[in-house]
Amino acid sequence: MSNGKEKIAIIGAGLGGAVAGALLQHAGFDINVYEQAPSFSRLGAGIHMGPNIMKIFERIGVDKKVISISSTPSHWFSRDGITGEYTARVPLEGYGQTYCTVHRGDLQAIQCDALQPGTLHFGKKLARLDDSGTDVLIEFEDGTSVRADIVIGADGINSRVRETLLGEEKPNYSGWVGHRALISSDKLKKYDLTFEDCVKWWGPDRHMMVYYTTARRDEYYYVTGVPHPAWEFDSAFVDSSRDEMAAAFEGYHPIIQALIESTDEVTKWPLFNRNPLPLWSKGRLVLLGDACHPMKPHMAQGAAMAIEDAAMLTRCLQETGISNFRTAFGLYETNRRDRATRVQSVSNANTFLLKQEDPAWVYGYDIYAEPLKSETAA
Ligand code: FAD
Repeated sequence: MSNGKEKIAIIGAGLGGAVAGALLQHAGFDINVYEQAPSFSRLGAGIHMGPNIMKIFERIGVDKKVISISSTPSHWFSRDGITGEYTARVPLEGYGQTYCTVHRGDLQAIQCDALQPGTLHFGKKLARLDDSGTDVLIEFEDGTSVRADIVIGADGINSRVRETLLGEEKPNYSGWVGHRALISSDKLKKYDLTFEDCVKWWGPDRHMMVYYTTARRDEYYYVTGVPHPAWEFDSAFVDSSRDEMAAAFEGYHPIIQALIESTDEVTKWPLFNRNPLPLWSKGRLVLLGDACHPMKPHMAQGAAMAIEDAAMLTRCLQETGISNFRTAFGLYETNRRDRATRVQSVSNANTFLLKQEDPAWVYGYDIYAEPLKSETAA
């Protein structure tokens, strides 16, 4: 356990970094989180939080709050995108916690509120790290700097911390984009159609995942995976259009057509990934989440893996104390690598729950119930 003087800096207050900060603070560590964005905006996107993550949210006391603002589907339906035939009806209950679908911005706000006041610093874009061997100098683009005993890189797919460890390397463009749109449920009332709580529509080479993002079910959300030859834009996403959606899903089921007709704004995101990294930590620097194992988002478990990483890293640091961070980092990688790599590969293959299958290995997982494997046992 920390002696109260050792400091941990987390770079990035995304879905993994914010939870890592809150979990470590609950465990008594001295934490500061540095985020490049000047503030968070309510980006138009939804996210699934499975029972495996809600068990972690219990530890920072936010599970009930998340459930209170989420839609809580009883099933994940998979349907043929053209005929509507069901290929799977997978129960989401019975895994020891609730399955939530929620607005990503609302979730992020709850996570950030779980941090101790004054420990989340916006407008701090990491420029450079210098691990002196005795501590780490962290320099930000605004010209300020801080020192920490260890640094957690939770800075996403284009992680500067990853670059410090492994050199500059662009992520791989997967050849797919994801369209994202939020639709007011009022717009759907005119259709004599049933809009299910959580359904994935599958085509031969594309899909559309659809769910509610609020407890009131007044906001419906879709996110697609559609082949797109190359990502020719500089930004993280670009605007798409109803026409582009109509062309991408021509001939698909009437429910999909209704969703496209009801779309006001839709954005288009390139989907990137990386091959598994040769190392997750070096010296006083350690990675988590997309900085470490980004994936195509088709299992809805990318953020979940970042949050599981945060929980396991906290567990390992509690086990060893910060002064023994090298052992903690080794334990962390030993206890995370196989699961994160498995989820990464199933997610990239986009096969999860297409057919009836048991998802207990994902949703039934309780990171606190797993015995810690030692490095040599791996
Ligand atoms: P991020 O959430 O990307 O956070 C990184 C943070 O670091 C950001 O806030 C960023 O501003 C900050 N940062 C970056 N560089 C710096 C710097 N130099 N200095 C300071 N701060 C920095 N996952 C799910 O679990 N469920 C889903 O339903 C789901 N749907 C998805 C749909 C789409 C279309 C996409 C693209 C992804 C989806 N994902 C989903 C995946 C999920 O978004 C990511 O896996 C997840 O956000 C990773 O969390 P993270 O904390 O590692 O990184």
